Amino acid sequence: MGGATFPTHVKLSPPADKPIDTLILNGVECEPYLTSDHRLMLEEPKKILLGMQIILRILNAKVGAIGIENNKPDAIETFRRVISELNLPFKVFSLHVKYPQGAEKQLIKAVVDRTVPAGKLPMDVGAVVQNVGTAAAVYDAVAYKRPLVERVVTVTGNGINEPKNVLARIGTSYSDVFEYCGGLCEDVGKIIMGGPMMGLAQSSLDVPVIKGTSGLLLLNEKESRRRQETTCISCARCIDVCPMGLMPKMLGAFVKHNQFDDAQAYHVLDCIECGSCSYVCPAYINLVHLIRFGKSEVIKKRKKAS
Ligand code: SF4
Ligand code: SF4
Repeated sequence: MGGATFPTHVKLSPPADKPIDTLILNGVECEPYLTSDHRLMLEEPKKILLGMQIILRILNAKVGAIGIENNKPDAIETFRRVISELNLPFKVFSLHVKYPQGAEKQLIKAVVDRTVPAGKLPMDVGAVVQNVGTAAAVYDAVAYKRPLVERVVTVTGNGINEPKNVLARIGTSYSDVFEYCGGLCEDVGKIIMGGPMMGLAQSSLDVPVIKGTSGLLLLNEKESRRRQETTCISCARCIDVCPMGLMPKMLGAFVKHNQFDDAQAYHVLDCIECGSCSYVCPAYINLVHLIRFGKSEVIKKRKKAS
């Protein structure tokens, strides 16, 4: 149920040679604008924590930790209270508000101070991260044999008349969701599934809510305007902000010149597509778009070679 929609059953079936000692529940909203996880934490803390207990048992893990950003004091307080009421052995970590704090590798570093090496997965450092929505869904599946039929969706931005969080059935069309939220504003310019940094622009309203639809962001025309790309001025801002320690400027240049081997040598596949480099670039270079394309070319090449 997290932004990347990585399959839960895979995370819950680690190979025998990768024992898991720590389960981290992700209560950090993955992107700005989105509040669906926050809402769920306030409304269903018990369900989430009991789901977490089930996951801990499946993984045979010893430690259960929950990471929540410190701009959600009500969620932190609620979780600490319910943990104490249910007498569960879990600990809540209050984290700095920082993007992309909700990315798996960053969350593991912040909560248990372990670094997931390049090209490796959280299970390589004995950790599994699950979204709070996943924990609630696991509880429903185990306690009630109920499949995933609905999810909380944040409908937000200056392009919608009544922004709110809605509990939407999987398969509900965007147009029905928007109608329920008072309809689109006249000057709506762009509809994004997800948040402003990693979300995907949509070209139709005839699209269904799916498991990964954590939010629908509607920007107005002014906010959606594209700036004209200019030349890189080598300011290094993109390098300073990259949470993975990459050199987005170089990666973008390699991809522009079809130098995919060089991009691979500069670890293009480690990019988590957080969008921070594009956001800070004063030359308005769409670095994350170039890098995404570069990643797909490198993967294609690898598949051909194997
Ligand atoms: S932020 Fe933009 S202008 Fe600055 S070095 Fe990176 S790509 Fe070049
Ligand atoms: S999108 Fe840019 S800033 Fe984010 S991980 Fe990839 S290269 Fe780094």
